Amino acid sequence: MRKRIVFATGNKDKMKEIRMILADLGLEIISMKEAGVDIDIVEDGMSFEENAEIKARAVSRVLTNDIVLADDSGLEIDYLDKAPGIYSARFAGEDTSYDVKNRIFLDRLEGVPDEERTARFVCAVAAVFPDGTTRTVRETIEGRIAHEIAGDNGFGYDPIFYVPEYGCTTAEMDPKLKNKLSHRGKALQSMKKILKEKFGEGSL
Ligand code: IMP
Repeated sequence: MRKRIVFATGNKDKMKEIRMILADLGLEIISMKEAGVDIDIVEDGMSFEENAEIKARAVSRVLTNDIVLADDSGLEIDYLDKAPGIYSARFAGEDTSYDVKNRIFLDRLEGVPDEERTARFVCAVAAVFPDGTTRTVRETIEGRIAHEIAGDNGFGYDPIFYVPEYGCTTAEMDPKLKNKLSHRGKALQSMKKILKEKFGEGSL
């Protein structure tokens, strides 16, 4: 049977990025929903890594023959003691729009100088293999909180995440460039190396 990768997320924006990044593996990449898995997963880990592993393991318990990947990601703002961190999606309520969430952070950082506006997106990706083993990687992209909302690409906090080297927010970047530089892009690239090693060993 042809191997496939099931990604434990219900987020369509993330699936789009993930498919683009893992396209050259030549494997079918489907979401847990497309694989027919509809379970509620309680993300009660204390780190991005723990939460990614919790999600991947929960789906792997149902789809024991598949390679299951999951990510957990978020924004850390240094001035706010790394908030919202692992609570990025839940911050100010899951149903609150990102326009509102982004404005809350801009208000909290009003008058704060550029050098104290440092922030990063963090992404952990966990893989659970059919043999029961787990591998987890973590990557970041460094930037700072912009002074105003800018850009329509991407999702979530992209319109306030400014990358000084490129002079724009990640919402103003071409999606291909964002995928190359981003926390998720880099974490998936690292995971891709692990998957290729596993294939090389013939253990998948
Ligand atoms: P997760 O689905 O638990 O990983 O939640 C991640 C949350 O962090 C998202 O809902 C966004 O709020 C934020 N986030 C993670 N990655 C990005 C990104 O690439 N751009 C903008 N926001 C992001």
